[in-house]
Amino acid sequence: MSEPISLEYTPDRATELKENMVSVQEEIDAVAGSSKPRLVPISKIKPASDIKALYDAGYRHFGENYIQEMVDKAEVLPKDIKWHFVGSLQSNKSKLAASVSNLYLLETLSSQKVADLLQKSIPSDRESKLNVYLQVNTSGEDSKSGLSPLTSSSSASSSSELVDLAIHVIEHCPSLNLLGLMTIGSFEASHDPSKPNPDFETLKETRKELARILQEKDVKGAKKEEELELSMGMSADFVQAVKEGSNSVRVGTRIFGERPKKH
Ligand SMILES: *Cc1c(COP(=O)(O)O)cnc(C)c1O
Repeated sequence: MSEPISLEYTPDRATELKENMVSVQEEIDAVAGSSKPRLVPISKIKPASDIKALYDAGYRHFGENYIQEMVDKAEVLPKDIKWHFVGSLQSNKSKLAASVSNLYLLETLSSQKVADLLQKSIPSDRESKLNVYLQVNTSGEDSKSGLSPLTSSSSASSSSELVDLAIHVIEHCPSLNLLGLMTIGSFEASHDPSKPNPDFETLKETRKELARILQEKDVKGAKKEEELELSMGMSADFVQAVKEGSNSVRVGTRIFGERPKKH
């Protein structure tokens, strides 16, 4: 039996969380260009009351990494929260994800199987399409999920799982909206802010190539390069990510504090 989820927070905790949001936002604003990136606080393993405190301060976008945790929190928190799911989604959890009516954005789509299961389980009366980012494994690390990136030497005729999935979503998944690309990136690469981050460069390059190939193949309804969002940057490297053109940063530790180990 689990405890009922409490949404009560102390004034001190609310102040702390709001100050953290403001200070991260200031660092973003200091380097952002004309298009303002979205700041998504990642609240995994943190109590729903933390989210409620920021919700009451006016924030609406929140991200979670474990599907059952997001489902449990979404059930008790206000329905106008725009949830982002940033963890890997196993196909047998697709239906569960689709049941969250205010899941705004699945940031980690990387298989046609999951796309089809989502398409099948999204209720027909859902208010808007479910936005998806395709997750790209820009660092090539075995420990990271995601599809292989594209480079300028990839040609339209060469087969790529990423291109195939993008086309599949656009042409066969009317309940999904392909909104952009996401990367986690390597930890090592995020620690030298004096140089462009290779993961962020690779994600940008992949977006450019994807847009070019979709246009070349004349895929109806495909977005242009500048219409595809990039989700990159976390606590350690969000400033660098924004400098390199990120549209959505996912910040956990800097907002909520260190996370305890889950088990
Ligand atoms: C936990 C998590 C984050 C936030 O990480 P921090 O380093 O705590 O900011 C961002 N993205 C994903 C996919 C995560 O799982």
